[in-house]
Amino acid sequence: FNKDIADTDCVNCGQCAAVCPTGAITIKNDQSEVWKALYDPNKRVVVQIAPAVRVAIGEEFGFEPGENTLGKTVAALRRLGFDYVFDTSVGADLTIMEEAAELVEKLESGDRSMPLFTSCCPGWVRYAETKHPELMPYISTCKSPMQMLGAVLKTYYAPMDKKEHKETVSVAIMPCTAKKDEAARQALAKDAVPDVDLVLTVREFAKLLKGKGIDLRKLEGRDFDTPFMSKGSGAAVIFGKTAGVAEAAARTVYYVLTGKNVNSIQFKTSEHPHVEQELTIDLGEGKSPLRIGVVHGLVNADYIADEVLSGKSPFDFIEVMSCPGGCINGGGTPREAGDYHLFNLERTKVLTTIDEKHSLRQSHNNPMVKELYKEYLGEPNSHLAHELLHTEYQDRKSGKKLRAEDIWKEITLC
Ligand code: SF4
Repeated sequence: FNKDIADTDCVNCGQCAAVCPTGAITIKNDQSEVWKALYDPNKRVVVQIAPAVRVAIGEEFGFEPGENTLGKTVAALRRLGFDYVFDTSVGADLTIMEEAAELVEKLESGDRSMPLFTSCCPGWVRYAETKHPELMPYISTCKSPMQMLGAVLKTYYAPMDKKEHKETVSVAIMPCTAKKDEAARQALAKDAVPDVDLVLTVREFAKLLKGKGIDLRKLEGRDFDTPFMSKGSGAAVIFGKTAGVAEAAARTVYYVLTGKNVNSIQFKTSEHPHVEQELTIDLGEGKSPLRIGVVHGLVNADYIADEVLSGKSPFDFIEVMSCPGGCINGGGTPREAGDYHLFNLERTKVLTTIDEKHSLRQSHNNPMVKELYKEYLGEPNSHLAHELLHTEYQDRKSGKKLRAEDIWKEITLC
């Protein structure tokens, strides 16, 4: 009692606010800050759109559930006055490059006693920090796609800002309320400059458009207007649904280990009561197969955390998403009273179809990502990539900050 919500065990996923029948719980809204930035001539305002947004926002404007309105969303953002519109999917491709490199390094080290957990869901990260800080060394140090893209954009525009005496403000349109807390994490600010300044949920963004009289139904779709960091792969688009991150990572890990590109990898329904789907990849003679598990909902994650800590988990890599179904069901997405599960199924189906029809199915084949490594970052997991694209976590029980590499140092010294 009498605590700020930030000092409680709340993971900020927003599921309670999304279904609160009395509207007693409200989410911090950054709309006025976004307006201030858009009207300030000294600000360059850039915006990114998460994969799940394209299949969720249409419902606010009377489109069929799950309809892909990405082009119209880009048009609406340009009409609002954003200077440049980017696709968070490119950040998702970067996340896969870094996370796959971490997983391959772990496999090659021969230590398979503990799995590697995904880190792109801030609700899950916060939960682990609060309830199971012992797991922190096993959570990927990769920033989420939103933060990776934010970091790249701030770095890219910094010299121009200096020359033009401007400041770049980075906005993100997300299905997620926890992304607001993530953007504010100190560990995700470089020299006190945050990767992402302001986050609007899909519902807040729809309100902003309606307040300006912009109706998505009346807009012609537009493509992203900059070739820089604006097109993600199909693997990146499925980040918006449960098992999407795991499948995207599996496509790239498979390529790194075998040299073969695969367009999709079939996960099977798991018999484990708390794992939704799983995949086993044969790594060749004499090697144990790679086992990947997919978990959604924090009740399930709690069981899995206990299983991992007791040394009984069979998995090498575990995707965890706080929201059941993944980001398509994020706390910031539109909710049709009563029936939103059907809407979620449609959103999931459309993301799957976008991936299936995409001409580029693997993160490691994204030309923009390749170019970024060639011209700037070097290779995945390089020193510079770590500086820009990785983060640290905070043990919220003891208040200690831990980086994965520090933990390894401690273990080695023991
Ligand atoms: Fe946010 Fe997605 Fe995690 Fe839900 S599953 S808390 S929407 S990142």
